[in-house]
Amino acid sequence: MNIQKMDQKYIANTYARFPVTFVSGKGCILVDEAGKEYIDLTSGIAVNAFGIADEKWLEAVKVQLRKLQHTSNLYYTEPCVMLAKMLCERTGMEKVFFSNSGAEANECAIKVARKYAANQKGADYYNIVTLTGSFHGRTITTLAATGQASFHTDFTPLTPGFVYAEANNLDDLYNKVKQNKVAAIMFEVVQGEGGVNPLTKEFVKGMKEIAQHQNILLIADEVQIGNGRSGKLYGYMNYGIKPDIVTTAKGLGGGLPIGVTILGDKTADVLTPGLHGSTFGGNPVCCAGALNILSRIDDKLLKEVRQKSQYIKEELDGASGIKKITGLGLMLGVETVKDSSSVILDCLENGVLILKAKDKIRLLPTLNISMEELKKSVAVIKEACAL
Ligand code: PLP
Repeated sequence: MNIQKMDQKYIANTYARFPVTFVSGKGCILVDEAGKEYIDLTSGIAVNAFGIADEKWLEAVKVQLRKLQHTSNLYYTEPCVMLAKMLCERTGMEKVFFSNSGAEANECAIKVARKYAANQKGADYYNIVTLTGSFHGRTITTLAATGQASFHTDFTPLTPGFVYAEANNLDDLYNKVKQNKVAAIMFEVVQGEGGVNPLTKEFVKGMKEIAQHQNILLIADEVQIGNGRSGKLYGYMNYGIKPDIVTTAKGLGGGLPIGVTILGDKTADVLTPGLHGSTFGGNPVCCAGALNILSRIDDKLLKEVRQKSQYIKEELDGASGIKKITGLGLMLGVETVKDSSSVILDCLENGVLILKAKDKIRLLPTLNISMEELKKSVAVIKEACAL
């Protein structure tokens, strides 16, 4: 059985996969079918927060799996309530809606924002301002929200009601808000798929002021940067603001699918029975895993994330073939002199998995990667980048 040939025959051709088939792993080590080991600095694109087969997460998931794998949302279950409580307590928000992915979490946020604005100002206040370079998902509506024209080609007409302002340009944001009837501004504090580009503190502060002044909601898309990756629990916490809605997914589940839309005091009661729903959202097994992950993203871990980030930056800054490092915490983009795709292939060859973001290489290691593994992998990256 040739897995790669069968994959190409039977699976829709949406991914340009690397020619590697993984069979197992532990922590941040992945093992391919030939037994070769790789240090994983991708975490399944910011998903495996504590790596592969993390013992504590595994135990939490297994215990729940043996008890009850699914009900429907017609009944109460404990894991989703406990997770919702912890999310609200740790963000100071009020209520959550559970779904299964980042795109769905954003869809829910958009629905809530539109309903809130319709209640407050009228149904014509439906526009959502998003930023150029953003990425919010692949459904027709979240593609519309994504401020990159290249993602829109072939799928028009997209959902109407999205307006794009230039990232880090307060004048443009203000003009877009004034020229349109706006429900919300949606943003990633670090644009991941857009090239690991952080918003400036000045822009985020100004955005908050515009939103307050114009009575429009702020939606922080924390799908990639959230859940400890930035060195704080959520990325926006590095900027001293509190959004009205926070969306997250990826790392929260530790490897199982989960999406969450976290609602602040203005929006907590917008959703009423029948307005929104999800078959799998709040699944007890996913929530039990997420509860374990979230409870372990504590001050000690967050400090280590910041220290490891610093270590990577110090090692790579000024190294041969490296132009610039961007990002926050353990979500870093590295601009290389060599073509980033060739650096990625070189690292793969030498047993280190890294990602691409636009023309940069992108590092998203597990939050608890050991210093030993980090040192080994950074040495491989340096070698691959060197001129
Ligand atoms: N929002 C951001 C910031 C993302 O990075 C992503 C995925 O990369 C999404 C939304 C979409 O998430 P999902 O693929 O889980 O639907």
